[in-house]
Amino acid sequence: MTKTKQNIMLTPGPTPLPPEVLAALSRPILHHRTEAFGEMFQFVLDAMQRAYMTKNRVLMASASGTGAMESAVVNLLSPGDEALVYSTGAFGDRFAAILKAYGLSPVVISEEWGHAAKAEKISDALKRHPKTKVVFLQHTDTSTGVLNDIKDLAAAVHANSQAVIVVDAVSSLAAEEFRMDEWGVDVTLTASQKGLMNAPGLAFAAISERAWTLVQSARLPKFYFDWKTYDRSLKARETPYTPAVAMVAAQAEALKLIEKIGLEGMWKRTAELADYTRTWARKNGLAIFAKDPAHILTGVRLPEGVDGSAMLAEILREEGISIADGQLSLKGKIVRIAHMGYISRADLDAGFVALEKRLAEVQAA
Ligand SMILES: *Cc1c(COP(=O)(O)O)cnc(C)c1O
Repeated sequence: MTKTKQNIMLTPGPTPLPPEVLAALSRPILHHRTEAFGEMFQFVLDAMQRAYMTKNRVLMASASGTGAMESAVVNLLSPGDEALVYSTGAFGDRFAAILKAYGLSPVVISEEWGHAAKAEKISDALKRHPKTKVVFLQHTDTSTGVLNDIKDLAAAVHANSQAVIVVDAVSSLAAEEFRMDEWGVDVTLTASQKGLMNAPGLAFAAISERAWTLVQSARLPKFYFDWKTYDRSLKARETPYTPAVAMVAAQAEALKLIEKIGLEGMWKRTAELADYTRTWARKNGLAIFAKDPAHILTGVRLPEGVDGSAMLAEILREEGISIADGQLSLKGKIVRIAHMGYISRADLDAGFVALEKRLAEVQAA
């Protein structure tokens, strides 16, 4: 007899969804060139502006977060342009990979995994590369659970250059404090499946006037992600191509919930779950991986000799609880427990019990 499995997701995207959002996903599909869709789409864009804390225009495309990242690269740069990537983990490395795929040779500076980016290093790099057009940063690098101080980093960029600042806030938006305009960010990227409490499939970019100036002259090849095309469709409250209509409906519901709780309420919720997880880890003698930890995710180091990958596979198979493994060099060595979106204390408790049970078995063996 097979036990009915739970479906608990402690993964940093996709995340579990509130019932209102799930219900929206099962509603009849609207045609995307209608008043009804236009109204819903406009609400999503307006609410996204509030979530970004910006007065800037917001564009939406049907894609995952990497699509949003690629769109920033192709819309801001031309062949031969200088760009700076400050990598604090796998997602920073992804920016560098996208730039290289388009034939650019970015300057890449990086930190040892677990450490946050430093303003002095940006200042130094910009002094050495004064022609830098765009600086690419992560707010939270989900591979390491590190938080970068975007306010501080953006100030260093502005003090040393005219470069446009692109921030990947895919895992942090609506979950961890982020203030686009106040902090001086030009382009902020995000996606639906993390702090925004929706299914995967929507990508968003908020774009400042300063960044639009670059967009007008950027010559890297592009078609699907050409921001100018999306911008022209905004007047009609449409997207140029068929959007993921069901996901837009679901995003509207999720944004209504976010606005009911309030952004600060959302940030506080995430911080409390992070605290709760750190307390659990300490009680169990487990170290936190990040030296500069974010609230959206806690990376917990496993004791020497524990095969984390096998343990997580067993927890998923036997109990239906998804917990993320470490990425690349951290595979099997850390577990990544997410706190954004609709993840609850009860979900965390279930994960803790499952982890404690396996760790006790390993230690007894
Ligand atoms: C999830 C994530 C992305 C995008 O990943 P997709 O799988 O393409 O949605 C980008 N950056 C960060 C920091 C992320 O956490």
